[in-house]
Amino acid sequence: MSTSIDTSAHLSLPDVPTQLFVGGRWRDAASGETFTVEDPGNGDDLARVPDAGVEDATAALDAAVAAQAGWAATAPRERGEILRRAFETVTERIDELAAVMTLEMGKSLAESRAEISYAAEFFRWYSEEAVRISGRWSTAPAGGSRLLTMKQPVGPCLFVTPWNFPLAMGTRKIGPAIAAGCTMVVKPASATPLSMLALAGILAEAGLPDGVLNVVTTRSSGEVSGTLLADPRLRKVSFTGSTEVGRRIVEQSAQNLLRVSMELGGNAPFLVLEDADLDRAVEGAMLAKMRNVGEACTAANRFHVHRSVADEFATRLAERFDALTLGHGTAEGTDVGPLVDDATREKVEELVGDAVERGAEAVVGGERVDGPGYFYRPTVLTGVPDGARILREEVFGPVAPISVFDDEDEAVRAANDTELGLTAYLFTQDLDRAIRVSERLETGMVGLNAGIVSNPAAPFGGIKASGFGREGGAEGIEEYLETKYVALAVPER
Ligand code: NAD
Repeated sequence: MSTSIDTSAHLSLPDVPTQLFVGGRWRDAASGETFTVEDPGNGDDLARVPDAGVEDATAALDAAVAAQAGWAATAPRERGEILRRAFETVTERIDELAAVMTLEMGKSLAESRAEISYAAEFFRWYSEEAVRISGRWSTAPAGGSRLLTMKQPVGPCLFVTPWNFPLAMGTRKIGPAIAAGCTMVVKPASATPLSMLALAGILAEAGLPDGVLNVVTTRSSGEVSGTLLADPRLRKVSFTGSTEVGRRIVEQSAQNLLRVSMELGGNAPFLVLEDADLDRAVEGAMLAKMRNVGEACTAANRFHVHRSVADEFATRLAERFDALTLGHGTAEGTDVGPLVDDATREKVEELVGDAVERGAEAVVGGERVDGPGYFYRPTVLTGVPDGARILREEVFGPVAPISVFDDEDEAVRAANDTELGLTAYLFTQDLDRAIRVSERLETGMVGLNAGIVSNPAAPFGGIKASGFGREGGAEGIEEYLETKYVALAVPER
């Protein structure tokens, strides 16, 4: 690994909106307050955006409510075509959007481009789903009446999104909501508001009517979302973020009995059985661990490897980690950018420190990089004992803790020994075991000999304390539709 790190930005911030987007207009916060967006690669100030308060949040919901009836009545093809045009514009402007994302979030330009393609695919997928919303017609079992079942948009939604995928966590909600005919208020993470503001501009250009999508940037997340959750005009909340904040929002949503979707934290186990193809397992581990600098809810959080292959797996993974280049996300050749902020890096340090104190060994990495930016060296820990906090808590950084198991039951027990249940990864070449173990894993998703599960055509989501509801696939649009049934009395002839 190279020791000197290039922390200078090699691109400047493209022209991007830096105001609230409410009712189709760009405006400042009513208070005039703003806050700074920082480049985590070197700590430089990038831009200032409005610090919205309760008044601004209410204005955004007013706009969403005013637009709801007209939007619900808009032809599905028209809704789909707006999404399709937005997909094309996002794809055309990928380099510009990648520069914005890398500068505000830190990951390399290649990773930002990958996220933007993934984010745009939700618009393409839901442009195709908008015209496939349908219902049922049947005759009552006893005859004499007909049962008509229809789907209707849920109504105005609140979307709260995290900083780790500034665009994709938004489009997974915005795409199906637009397709279904819902209006929305989006509150992006305060660390990364610029990508979402850029997206709002693109959707407006694509012809989205005023008020369908509103974006409020704020540092007072609790106050702003609390105001909206308490407003009886809101019909749904969809949240992506930590389990802790998700719990609070579910509690608040009970007041108005809102429809709720929760995409919360993960603690993904990565299982390598003794018959795994180790080349594929190491390749999968690189993706599952190092994608997004480890700052992903789907990131492999802990590696459970069969004793007979654990040393070889650890050696090969450490070699790959050691060859990665750290640097500012915009620098040529950067594989690994900075973590998003100092608190995230401190948490990584704390969890690594705890594991090492309990007897684990850092075979590569195990330390922060001093200087500007929030860099932490890619780290492989071996001999991680059962009690280590890193096996229980989300590390959200480039650290791969490895512990060993002796049989399949022990591996499954270890994998399921967490309150979270988002993703698991399983590497084996035995089909019977692959199916058996996949069925026993308590997660919403399993990567089978695959280091990545995310796909716009698949239902993404967790069980247990990782939340409920699904984003993507045919399931994703159901989150934005209500079922209404009409009983038709048909007199006998
Ligand atoms: P976070 O919970 O701190 O913040 C998420 C969002 O909630 C941000 O917009 C934040 O401003 C807002 N927020 C914070 N406090 C709030 C409050 N009291 N009321 C309302 N909103 C509030 O999470 P984060 O640090 O931004 O993101 C990392 C977390 O997100 C990790 O736990 C990760 O696993 C999870 N995540 C989950 C998924 C998924 O699909 N399951 C995807 C990405 C990230």
